[in-house]
Amino acid sequence: MRLHAVCARCGAALTAASGGTGHGATGGGGRWACPLHGEVQPCWRAIEASYEAFAEHLVLSRGLPTWIPWPLPPGWAVADFGCVGGEGEPARATFATCHGLTPEDGGVSLVVVTEEPGVGLGAHLADVPHSDPGRAAWDQPPALRLRLDGASVPLWPVPQTLVQGDDDRTVLAGEAQGRWLWVVVKPAEAVLGLVDRASLGDASGLGPELVAVTFGSPAED
Ligand SMILES: [Zn+2]
Repeated sequence: MRLHAVCARCGAALTAASGGTGHGATGGGGRWACPLHGEVQPCWRAIEASYEAFAEHLVLSRGLPTWIPWPLPPGWAVADFGCVGGEGEPARATFATCHGLTPEDGGVSLVVVTEEPGVGLGAHLADVPHSDPGRAAWDQPPALRLRLDGASVPLWPVPQTLVQGDDDRTVLAGEAQGRWLWVVVKPAEAVLGLVDRASLGDASGLGPELVAVTFGSPAED
């Protein structure tokens, strides 16, 4: 088992809920509790990013895309990922975090979340209080467009006033394939480098090409 159960809304490690077996993602029948949020559907997150863990993730997240920059630029790596759902239930959310270097900004991280309404994973990873992107974001023109599997998807900035804690990140939200799409870029100004350049692909559709993907820390340059 290379994935462990955490809370989608706060990231806390989950324990077996009373009456549940707390079995792993493939054990079936598990019921899980967060110390803060009570019984929740687990987010199965990689203990350590690896090809083998990602293969388990793709089984659990079947039916949902996992977006990563694609082609993955040289020196970039998939550092973290997870899926809400599984255990015989349809997946409701996925995320992947990729790290790499850009000429303008040095080390950059990019988190992409796809989720159904109300899951709260995107808000947690973006550190904003609302589980779904607020309407405030839609009152302005889109900040950028990302290419997702060849389609152009508009993304709106989540107002910086909603972003808690460490401010050095840009949070964007939009909709793709009928689900919320969250994009978190660190540092904040690195989002400018994404305009016109970023192209995301669904890792669940990659097949043998995944063998060439680096997992874990980005390669040293
Ligand atoms: Zn929680």
